[in-house]
Amino acid sequence: MFLKALEIHGFKSFPDRTKITIERGITAVVGPNGSGKSNISDAIRWVLGETSAKQLRGGGKMENVIFGGTQSRNAMGFASVNLYIDNTDRRIDVDSDEVVIGRKYYRSGDSEYSVNGQNVRLKDIYEMFLDTGLGRDGYSIIGQGRIAVIVGAKSNERREIFEEASGIAKYRYRKNEAERRLASAEDNLVRLRDILGELE
Ligand code: ATP
Repeated sequence: MFLKALEIHGFKSFPDRTKITIERGITAVVGPNGSGKSNISDAIRWVLGETSAKQLRGGGKMENVIFGGTQSRNAMGFASVNLYIDNTDRRIDVDSDEVVIGRKYYRSGDSEYSVNGQNVRLKDIYEMFLDTGLGRDGYSIIGQGRIAVIVGAKSNERREIFEEASGIAKYRYRKNEAERRLASAEDNLVRLRDILGELE
């Protein structure tokens, strides 16, 4: 799995469609303060399903990820990010050599996620990246202040990071999902017994 390119359009300080290709090896992004370097990593986390506007330094409102305009340029109505991933090793459970993850968000609040052009749910993206290290809660993106958060985290919170790294997170997630379904099936059974009791 290898991050090949990132296409940003209308996201934060990127009003024009901008494609950033990433070569193998080390890539460094350099630029003056406030030029938009961190907005690039925000875009990656956002397309992978970050739902907290606070984590995206957006002042608590998701709308703030949309280009807000400058003195010479109007604000935009949507933000869109596409992430191109080399999947020749099939680390992601999609049968194609390239996986394109897309997210689009409109000022109206409507949101779209896609995988290779097909609309999907946020849940699908979350599940797809579990245990790859790259997902929304993965450890591949260490933002400013994240080290301090990890060091200061409670042991159970820190455990989640190790679980993701060791490939256990997927099973914990599935176990929680199964327990949730079991609880709802039990609720249904109780209701069914009540109805049967009334009929008898
Ligand atoms: P530093 O080196 O200081 O950390 P940086 O290069 O990482 O800076 P960013 O924090 O990525 O910079 O970008 C900040 C810039 O992005 C600011 O100029 C801010 O005005 C701009 N910006 C953020 N959100 C939006 C938005 N919604 N619309 C337009 N511009 C935005």
